[in-house]
Amino acid sequence: GAKHAGKNRHNLFDPASDKAAHERGRALADVERALRNQEFELFFQPKVNMRTGKVLGAEALIRWRHPQRGLLLPQEFLPVAENSDLIVEIGDWVLRSVLDHLEEWRRNGLTIKIGINIAPRHLLREDFTRRLAAHLNDHPDLPASCLELEILETAALADIGRVYQVMRECQKMGVTFALDDFGTGYSSLTYLKALPAEVLKIDQSFIRDILRDPEDLAIVEGIINLSGSFRRQVVAEGVESVEQGLQLLKLRCEQAQGFCIARPIPAARLADWIANWQPNPQWLDLGNGLTS
Ligand code: C2E
Ligand code: MG
Ligand code: MG
Ligand code: MG
Repeated sequence: GAKHAGKNRHNLFDPASDKAAHERGRALADVERALRNQEFELFFQPKVNMRTGKVLGAEALIRWRHPQRGLLLPQEFLPVAENSDLIVEIGDWVLRSVLDHLEEWRRNGLTIKIGINIAPRHLLREDFTRRLAAHLNDHPDLPASCLELEILETAALADIGRVYQVMRECQKMGVTFALDDFGTGYSSLTYLKALPAEVLKIDQSFIRDILRDPEDLAIVEGIINLSGSFRRQVVAEGVESVEQGLQLLKLRCEQAQGFCIARPIPAARLADWIANWQPNPQWLDLGNGLTS
């Protein structure tokens, strides 16, 4: 009716928002084309235990090898896809590719657990569990426990009961979960209590200034202590210096990812990196003096 026409007029005929919508449409079409042309690649960032020096796994991180613009980071192309079903197709591609890589590594004697970032829209799809099960069926030699799904609190904003249900279905198959960017959402503690994730990943924004900012240190210490009370594992993201790692070890956080351990690595080089990794001697020394 007239009321609706009035409300929408601004959006429909404002040339600025029209132009923005047009550009979004074009960007979305570009990402869709990239998927069809197989221009996406996965890089893998190792996760280690700083106390024992063991490699625990790696996280898959998507990249777009753009024919003109070079290697693009997710922030440059995922946001436009996140409000569309294209993110579901991309997520499906990531799942399949990770399983393909895992199969290849396994043939070469490497068994490893891989973390996969799952967009909220993907996780909340009615057929998410069924499709994940189908992908695992296509790779019968791989146990479901080789996958750890990293989810964001924003997935649960819509319907925490639904997220709980999906998690339980996946966990029955053997897949595990991590709460990514933990501590940055509006209701981290609600989600910690309500969702059965095995792992908390402390957001890198709290790690960055951990040596200078007593408030960040207090937050990190709080998350580590909570993880213990809730019997969850805890991982520090964005560890960039040996000193940050030492501080985390003193707080009894042993698992870490970050540039001072490894930057994200092309799939073809991950096995070599693992074979050649030298644990940091200062971390091992401090770790030897700590009872775990
Ligand atoms: P995330 O899952 O929290 O991943 C960690 C991000 O921090 C990665 O950025 C990684 O390269 C970066 N990082 C790791 N260590 C350090 C460090 O020591 N210092 C700093 N400054 N950064 C570090 P990346 O690869 O650009 O990914 C950004 C975000 O994009 C990810 O955050 C994740 O939310 C999303 N993402 C990446 N790959 C995928 C994917 O396959 N699917 C979906 N849905 N999202 C993805
Ligand atoms: Mg992640
Ligand atoms: Mg994160
Ligand atoms: Mg993040």
